[in-house]
Amino acid sequence: MIKAVVGANWGDEGKGKITDMLAEEADIIVRFQGGANAGHTIVNDYGKFALHTLPSGVFYDHTTSIIGNGVALNIPVFFKEYQEVVDRGVPAPKIMISDRAQIVMPYHILFDQYEEERLGGKSFGSTKSGIAPFYSDKYAKIGFQVAELFDEDALREKVERVCETKNVLLEHLYHKPLLNPDDIMAELMKYKEMVAPYVGDVSLFLWNALKEGKEILLEGQLGSLKDPDHGIYPMVTSSSTLAAYGAIGAGVPPYEIKKIITVCKAYSSAVGAGAFVSEIFGEEADELRRRGGDGGEYGATTGRPRRMGWFDCVASKYGCRMQGTTDVAFTVLDVLGYLDEIPVCTGYEIDGKVTTEFPTTGLLEKAKPVLEVLPGWKCDIRGIRKYEDLPENCRKYVEFVEKQIGFPITMVSNGPGRNDIIYRK
Ligand code: GDP
Repeated sequence: MIKAVVGANWGDEGKGKITDMLAEEADIIVRFQGGANAGHTIVNDYGKFALHTLPSGVFYDHTTSIIGNGVALNIPVFFKEYQEVVDRGVPAPKIMISDRAQIVMPYHILFDQYEEERLGGKSFGSTKSGIAPFYSDKYAKIGFQVAELFDEDALREKVERVCETKNVLLEHLYHKPLLNPDDIMAELMKYKEMVAPYVGDVSLFLWNALKEGKEILLEGQLGSLKDPDHGIYPMVTSSSTLAAYGAIGAGVPPYEIKKIITVCKAYSSAVGAGAFVSEIFGEEADELRRRGGDGGEYGATTGRPRRMGWFDCVASKYGCRMQGTTDVAFTVLDVLGYLDEIPVCTGYEIDGKVTTEFPTTGLLEKAKPVLEVLPGWKCDIRGIRKYEDLPENCRKYVEFVEKQIGFPITMVSNGPGRNDIIYRK
């Protein structure tokens, strides 16, 4: 059976923690999209880790961690992270890298930086990890699959051809130093040495695993609202963040994805630019940011302070619907324990009309939040293990949100650790 763990919102919902927790019962964990541009923070017996590329299952020795074909694979970052994890006492994870995964090339990172510089104030808030140039090249059919590293003659011919076009842009658009095919080949040969022991036919491996009744977990990055089709285009990421894409980015039959666990945060946070209807500012935002997550709401990759807001029922209902949610994991509820009253965004007012359906970007920019205020519970709920033991106002908050979004909240996370979880129903 396949389960997917994905985000309902803008990312940073706590997917890493939920995946790490569910990985205990899984045999295989697969990353199926995205790259080293976002991160997961995981707290477990080995300590606190910020993973960007390694699947969140690496902390268990019974699991195989897989980089699917849909991932933007930054090979040096991947192995640096692998080494860090091992150096901190985690047993060497079992890894498999899809022979069809494509490689983030050194020049993808440069092009990302140059384009941000060129756009100046009109930039998309890229993390400059090369993700947009990577996926552009993938779909322009000038990307490099891992398998191509193993045919040196064909690789050299392609590298030379790609450098020709890249160099036109570097010279005339960006006015930057040109690429040298020999340097790129040397780099790619290093990459080959690094990945060689781990490369395999991932879709076949997963197909066979399914036949043997193995439990597979697909791990998404970012959330629904960053999906290039269904999110807040153009302030989105470059690969689909939806569970459905797991079938493609891992190479598994779509009908095998039986459970879609959508992680939804008890308040809102976002990084980068883009409409954020329930956003709050000033001291109110600073306090939530300081208390948020596990040690504050700052990007796991960039350290950027996250933008903060109240829970957005409109965005979350839509985010859950687009994922095809079977279960909602509602996270960081413990953080809200300091508030006397908790505003929740239940609708958007656009041109004088209130809607509860998430609109396209132009209309979203005009939306004003309709807020409903719920009473707080004013205590620390960490350590509670049974739903009935939560304070009444806390349960009311969960149930209010559940009704608004229309998907069952079956897990409530009340702390960053693996065991800080309350199962419902
Ligand atoms: P991801 O990208 O969706 O995996 O999210 P991140 O890991 O970037 O952000 C979630 C942050 O919240 C991390 O610092 C987690 O350790 C932390 N976290 C996850 N669940 C909870 C929770 O229930 N309570 C608290 N206080 N922190 C949590």
